[in-house]
Order: sequence, then C-alpha cells, then structure tokens
Amino acid sequence: MSFVFGPVSSRRFGLSLGIDLSPDRKRCNYDCLYCELKKADPIAFFDSPIEPDAIIQEVEAALKTCTPNVLTITANGEPTLYPYLNELVDRLNAIKRNAKLMILSNASAIGVPNVSDALSKIDIVKLSLDAAEPIAFKKIDRPQKNYSDLNAIINGMIAFRKRYKGTLAIEILLVDKVNDTPANFEALALALKKIAPDRIDIGTIERPSAYKVQAAAPERIRALADCLKGLNAQIIPNKHAVAKQSLNKSAILELLKRRSLGLSEAESILDQSSLELLNSLVTEGAIVVKTQGGKTFYALK
Ligand code: SF4
Repeated sequence: MSFVFGPVSSRRFGLSLGIDLSPDRKRCNYDCLYCELKKADPIAFFDSPIEPDAIIQEVEAALKTCTPNVLTITANGEPTLYPYLNELVDRLNAIKRNAKLMILSNASAIGVPNVSDALSKIDIVKLSLDAAEPIAFKKIDRPQKNYSDLNAIINGMIAFRKRYKGTLAIEILLVDKVNDTPANFEALALALKKIAPDRIDIGTIERPSAYKVQAAAPERIRALADCLKGLNAQIIPNKHAVAKQSLNKSAILELLKRRSLGLSEAESILDQSSLELLNSLVTEGAIVVKTQGGKTFYALK
C-alpha cells in the first residue's frame, strides 16, 4: 500500500507531493453530498491507522527522487482524525527541507486541542466551511453526530486563527439549492469576518459526486463573492473552462518524464486528440495507468 502520490502540479502551490493517511478506503466524519469518493457512513474514530514510521519512510524515499514545493497531508476522508497527526507533523517538518507543509481538512475537529496543536505547526492550513447556518451545514456536509456542533467548529476556527501564524485558507463549495441560500451567505459573511482567514476560495462541483447534486449557478457563486467583499474571497475558475493543450506523443512522453499525470488533470488540461494519443500510448505499452492513494495516474513504465 502506498501513502505517497505525485508529485502533481497545482497552479497555486507548484509541485505538490501528496501524503494520503487513508489510502485503502474512505475514513471521514462527514458524508458530504458533493464528495468525489463513494458514499460512506460518517465515522467518529479513525480505525487501523498506519504507523508514522511507514509514512515517513515513503516520504523520505520520494524526496530522493523529486523536489516538491509542498508536502500535502490529505486523506480519502478527514486527515485530522488520524490519531498520530501531531507526531507525523513534527517528523514531516524535520525532513521537508525547503518545501512547505500543507493540510486539507474539513475543520470538524479544529476545536480538539491535540488537532489544533498539530495544525498550528503546519505552514498552510486549508479548511472547508460550506455553511455557517445549521440547516445548510447538516444538509450539505452530513456530519457524524460528535462533529455536528457548527458553533463549536466556527468558534474553534476563530480561536485557531488567533494562535496560528501560517497561511489560513478557507474553501467554500456551493451546491445548487443546498447551501447557496441568502441565509447561509449572510451567516458565512458574519463567521468569516470573525475568522479572518488569509484567503477564501469559492467553488462548486466539477466532477461526479457521491449524491445526485448540481453545481451552483454562476450568479449564486458571484452573489456569495459579493457578500464576502473585503475578505480576500475569490471564485475558483472551473478547471474545465481552461484552454486545453494539444500535445503530440513525444510531448506527452516529455511531460510524463517530468511527472505523472492524474486522470482528472489529464482530462482537464488535454484536448480530445491528445487524450486519444495518451490512451494509445497505454495500449502500446509505452506508459502505464497506476492507482495510488485512491487516485489514478498516467506514468512512464
Ligand atoms: S469532508 Fe471531504 S472526504 Fe469527507 S465526505 Fe466531505 S468531501 Fe468527502
């Protein structure tokens, strides 16, 4: 089982080496309507955790072959439920060299002292806050009951911001007729003024999700951005709207020499004829399709 995936490129952070704390299956205390993983009952505890030694060994091996800009702690689920997070963060900080350490979390456990301590040692903390109004929160994020106190989560975020010196980003994902309501926008604006993150990203569904839900309309996304004026909020451009590249076979092989390419990333950056060439390279045996950390990649053999 592999815990490390990538590196993959991101427009904002450059090369990111991913560390998946739950590579074998989903372990999450939410069951979000928009989740790209399969539906699963939300959990209260992280069972059968991997030992930090095994993760560190893999990260050290990966760092011998690449120089990422960020090490991103993530999970097929919620990484702050991982019981050895504090130790893992200390050990990753000790080996990361010039890379920054980042975590993607749903913020549900931010009020737990051990979790907040671990997050405070991470360079970039990216938290989700889809709703600040309780009905919308329960509808969209479907939390496990121990993690369903929205006030405690928001107060935990406010307290964390006060002690945290790194970059705090908040991500809001809007779903049509679920959390794109005026009541939720008002509540989000109030909560986010108090949290005062460095940046707020607003997006909507881009890929197939666990439940049948629709992307929020562009005018609703803009309406939320208007409510958050002065808070450094920005709309995440739909990746699929970005101009797609046309590559021949040798350009594809050159790209894969530098890094593996995620299936969804390939679909978002390559035009149809390049995708056909990519798949013909798989058929010819020049490249392979691998699954790592629950994600599928194209890579050189
Ligand atoms: S928090 Fe993330 S992993 Fe968990 S259900 Fe929501 S989208 Fe899926």
